[in-house]
Amino acid sequence: MNMKKSRVVVLGSTGSIGVNTLDVIERHPDRFEVFALTASTSVDTILAQCARHRPAYAVMASEAHGKQLFQSCVAQGLCTQVLWGADALAMVAAHELADIVMAAIVGAAGLAPCLAAARSGKRLLLANKEALVVGGQLFMDTVAAGGATLLPIDSEHSAVFQSLPPDPCDWAARIDKIILTASGGPFRNRDPLTLRDVTPEEACAHPNWIMGRKISVDSATMMNKALEVIEAKFLFGVAPAQIQVVIHPQSVIHSMVQYVDNSVVAQLGTPDMRGPIAYGLSWPERVCSGAAALDFSTMSALNFEAIDSEANKRRFPGIDLAWAALAAPQGTTAVLNAANEVAVAAFLERRIRYDQIHHINVDTLSTVRPEAPGSLDDLLGLDMLSRRAAESAVSRLGA
Ligand code: NAD
Ligand code: MG
Repeated sequence: MNMKKSRVVVLGSTGSIGVNTLDVIERHPDRFEVFALTASTSVDTILAQCARHRPAYAVMASEAHGKQLFQSCVAQGLCTQVLWGADALAMVAAHELADIVMAAIVGAAGLAPCLAAARSGKRLLLANKEALVVGGQLFMDTVAAGGATLLPIDSEHSAVFQSLPPDPCDWAARIDKIILTASGGPFRNRDPLTLRDVTPEEACAHPNWIMGRKISVDSATMMNKALEVIEAKFLFGVAPAQIQVVIHPQSVIHSMVQYVDNSVVAQLGTPDMRGPIAYGLSWPERVCSGAAALDFSTMSALNFEAIDSEANKRRFPGIDLAWAALAAPQGTTAVLNAANEVAVAAFLERRIRYDQIHHINVDTLSTVRPEAPGSLDDLLGLDMLSRRAAESAVSRLGA
C-alpha cells in the first residue's frame, strides 16, 4: 500500500535544527517530502538545499536576498518559486498543501509564521522556543482554536512529552513535577568572579551540543533553561512551582517526569537533535533518526548537581527570571525574551560584557510594564517596546 507522503515546511532550514531536519527527511523519502524552505541571509546554503530537495517554495526574509536566490535558481534551472518577506513566510507556513511545519527560526521572528501554521491546523514541530515564550497563552489558544498538533522539538520537552501518558487529560491529576535537565554548559565549573572576562568564542563552545550561536550563549548563561521553564509551563499546563531544573553534565537523560507516587519516568539518548526531530516528524510512530545508540557498557556515570547552590546562583543568575516572569503580569515573558535577544546580540557583537547580559534582562524587566497582550499585533508591539528599552540599557551599560 502506498502511504501518502507528508509535505514538510522547514522554517529556518539553513540553521542547525533546519539542517538536521533535512537530514532526517532524507532518510525517509517514502514518508516525507520538502514543500518549502526558508532562511534569513544564507543564499548559498538554501540554494544547495533547493537543488537537493526540489521544494515548491523557498522564502528569504528580505527582498535583496530573495532576488539573489531567485536569480541563482533561474540560472540553475530550478522550478522552486522564490518569495520574500513576512507575508510569504506566513503563507508557506499556512499553505493548504503543507502537512507539517518545522519551526526552526531563532527568536521572536518566528512567532508570526508559527501562529499562521497553528491557525491552519498543521502539525507544528516547535524548536523555536522563543515564539512560545513570547506568545504564551495566546500561542496555546491559537493552537487549540486551529486544531493544530503542537509537538515539542526542544530535547527536554520532547523527553517530557515522551515520558507523559498519551492523553493530556490525565496529565494534571498524575504529574507531581517536571524535571528539566541542564548540562551546565561551558561554565559549569567556572569561578563566577571570572565570568566578566568571557568571550563570545568561549560562550559558544558548548561541551555536548553543536547549535546556533544565540542558543549556545543562552546555554552558557542558562537563560536557555529559563526559556525552557517558561516553554514547559505553556506546553504542559503545569504550575511554575511544579517545574524543577537539575544539572546533569552528561546530557544523557534529556528530562524526566515525577508522578504523584514519586515514580520518575525519564527519556535517555545520545545528545543528537535528530532524535527529537524524527520523533516529531513520525509521532506516534518511530523511525530511524540517524542518532547513535547509547552504549551502556562504556557509560561510567550519570551525575546530578543542584542548580541553586551558592556558586551556581552566582554563575547562573538568569535562571530565576523564568519563575519571576511567570509570576508577573501576562506578557512579561515576552519582555524577558526581547531583552535577552538584544543582550545576547550585543554580547556577540562585543558591545557589552558577558555578565552584563543578565543586567540588561533585569533592567528591561523593571522598565517595561506589559498590558495583557490579546493579539499578535499586541505581542509584536510589546516585543518592539522591550527591544528599545533593552537597546537603551545596552547603550548605558556598554559604553
Ligand atoms: P541557527 O541560528 O542555527 O538557525 C536559525 C535559522 O533561522 C536560520 O535558518 C536563519 O536563516 C533563520 N533566521 C534567523 N533570523 C531570521 C529572521 N529574522 N527571519 C527569518 N528567518 C530567520 O539556530 P538553531 O540553533 O537552529 O536554533 C533554531 C531554534 O531552535 C532556536 O529557537 C533554538 O532555541 C531552538 N533549538 C535549537 C537547538 C539546537 O540544537 N540547535 C536545540 C533546541 C532548540
Ligand atoms: Mg533544550
